[in-house]
Amino acid sequence: MNKVEIDIPEDIDTSCFENWSEADWRNDSIGHENEIDGLECPLCKNKGRIFKMEGEYVVAEECICMKKRRAIRNINKSGLDELLKFTVKSFKAEHDWQRVIRDKAIEYVKSNSNSWFVILGQPGSGKTHLCSAIAKTFLDKEKEVKYIIWPVYIRELRNKMYGQNDINVILKEKQIEILYIDDFLKGADSENAMELAFDLLNYRYNNNLTTIISSELLMDELNKKDAAIAGRIYQRSKEYLFQINKCDKNNYRLL
Ligand SMILES: [Zn+2]
Repeated sequence: MNKVEIDIPEDIDTSCFENWSEADWRNDSIGHENEIDGLECPLCKNKGRIFKMEGEYVVAEECICMKKRRAIRNINKSGLDELLKFTVKSFKAEHDWQRVIRDKAIEYVKSNSNSWFVILGQPGSGKTHLCSAIAKTFLDKEKEVKYIIWPVYIRELRNKMYGQNDINVILKEKQIEILYIDDFLKGADSENAMELAFDLLNYRYNNNLTTIISSELLMDELNKKDAAIAGRIYQRSKEYLFQINKCDKNNYRLL
């Protein structure tokens, strides 16, 4: 590459820079935080930090844009995408039991409880709508949220784990602040999938991490598949565990 030399004319006035401190120079440089989240900030020029002098030392403070950046990044990472349109208010409760679950969902998000929220049973009863709406309220509180659809997640994990049989690949989902698992245990329950399911839920159980679960399986069916998994779900969600019996939308009971 050709080097381009720029001659500074001798008569140029540089006096305006003479009083610039080290902090001013740093504040003048351009950052790249916008490349991650698309947010342009004229205050910090996308560095995410504002510098100032304290005596002879340069100190950095977080720019106010970082709060917004974290929110945008959390939304992008959550995987909720289309589901973000769902709110608890927009949930149409046609039946009494739907009203009960909706009201419990409202109570749950207000309670700041780290109990698990679990809806089991009947497809098409609004499980995904309510669970997504709950997940969104956590995003609004600037928490880190991850949405996974169980059969898709297991398929992707299998590809990642191919040939290496390393259970640690699920470490990320294990530790996420708020995890929403949709269609839990749907699909083939190979030994490997059940092992991963137990490992994931057991870790979250032991570390008191908030988990939202929806599944077409009822508690009895979960119990038959794996009593240890069912037991952990039951213990962590008691007050917020709902079961909608299949084929009869009016027939539902709180466990
Ligand atoms: Zn900024």
